Amino acid sequence: MEPIHTEIVVVGAGPGGYAAAFYAADLGRKVLLVERDQRLGGVCLTRGCIPSKALLYAAHTVTSARESERRGISFGPPTIDVAKLRAWKESILTRLSGGIAQLAKLRGVQVLHGRGYFEDSRTLRLETEQGQQFINYDHAIIAVGSKPAMPKAWDLGNPRIMTSNEALEVEEVPESLLVIGGGYIGMELGTVYASLGSKVVLVEALETILAGADPDLVRPIIAYAYKAFKEVRLTTKVGKMATSGKHIKVEFDLDGQKKEELYDRVLVAVGRSPNADDMGLENTKVSFDDRGFIHVNEKQQTTDPAIYAIGDIVGGVMLAHKAAKEARIAVEVIAGQDSAFVDITIPAVVFTDPEVAWCGLTEAEAKAKGLEVRVAKFPWAASGRALSFDRPEGLTKLIIEPETERILGVGIVGTGAGELISEGVLAVEMGATAKDLALAVHPHPTLSETLMEAAEAFYGQATHTFARKRLQ
Ligand code: FAD
Repeated sequence: MEPIHTEIVVVGAGPGGYAAAFYAADLGRKVLLVERDQRLGGVCLTRGCIPSKALLYAAHTVTSARESERRGISFGPPTIDVAKLRAWKESILTRLSGGIAQLAKLRGVQVLHGRGYFEDSRTLRLETEQGQQFINYDHAIIAVGSKPAMPKAWDLGNPRIMTSNEALEVEEVPESLLVIGGGYIGMELGTVYASLGSKVVLVEALETILAGADPDLVRPIIAYAYKAFKEVRLTTKVGKMATSGKHIKVEFDLDGQKKEELYDRVLVAVGRSPNADDMGLENTKVSFDDRGFIHVNEKQQTTDPAIYAIGDIVGGVMLAHKAAKEARIAVEVIAGQDSAFVDITIPAVVFTDPEVAWCGLTEAEAKAKGLEVRVAKFPWAASGRALSFDRPEGLTKLIIEPETERILGVGIVGTGAGELISEGVLAVEMGATAKDLALAVHPHPTLSETLMEAAEAFYGQATHTFARKRLQ
């Protein structure tokens, strides 16, 4: 096959890669998008954000039906047709990835399926089912993402030991499930399986789950986990694992004592590792950190002048919207604009029940950096909207700079926190003050009012709470 020449080749069609390819095409560039999977959309669409949220939605109907009993409406125990659930989830993925393919076509982005391998700084070799295709480019954007980390000692080749990839396939609802890792992936998938009926034991080596979030925001999630899971074990380490008939024998280190237990399945959710090995990057000038993530500067430039990198492969906050933002920056820099990933607010959302979301500075970060801040809170127990759907356990908090009254960070725990946090992102990005948020009329009764009332609470004037004086 004749070599192809393109202005920009994007390797990997996840939320970073396809966003970069589409934006570059929108700016009039000739773009080629390379993806080794048959489906476009990357981990986020096929093995991450979307399938996990679909399953969480399905699982939520089980819990809300059960909880409605105390409001006088009872349903019988649920019947779960796993094949149908899986087919419904798959239909969403097919529809979305078909949509991405369609959007690529409409923009004139050429999509080639195959594994990309760098021959040198200006040549990508694509290994396709039909053979090899060489691509010469002016600029490459690497967006090859990450994969679940699986410690060697646990990699027994037994399908009962799952990563998030297999857990999202929902082959069955195991009677007992051990979830290793109390980060957002372990918590979200633990929530799915617990709602579907598994007895979930969650193990976390640290003293808390969701270590990045402020402790007061995590508290309702911990309360949920203690209720929904069979057990939550903090500061606990998992040792060896072995196959034992149809079970996995797991060794724990509990307060210096070894203990063994049998589980039907185990979900290992202990982090993610970069996909940069085995793609010829040693033939370029691209360099890596000691964990294998690609080094980039704030312009998404690698140490090779022709190559940019974005998304999970550059590490940092490994979230889809961070990848998509970096995509825009890389493309703008290639297009000659003075863009950089500086002072950009990347929100985090954990889609547990309740959800927890935060953006900008957290209270814990302020403390660690020795920054003086004021924290204004509005408890959802005082929100008519939260009470009207029976979920008053939430909390909205603002982290405020004392002299300027600027909002530096926002944290929310409660139903729908993932949707609410965007107002916080806007406030932080626009340099809004607590006064701005307090003066903006919010519709009643909504959960968004909790942001306004938290701002009012800063001035000691929240309508639905009482404070003797303004926060000092
Ligand atoms: P990826 O999405 O990983 O895409 C990389 C693509 O590159 C893949 O399609 C891969 O096949 C392809 N590729 C790799 N190597 C090659 C090669 N050599 N040649 C050609 N193609 C190649 N993030 C959120 O923001 N919100 C969430 O709710 C959320 N939930 C998640 C739930 C789970 C269970 C998991 C695992 C992740 C979740 N994430 C979530 C994280 C999110 O999926 C990632 O941050 C995001 O997908 C990263 O995007 P990316 O474009 O960098 O790479």
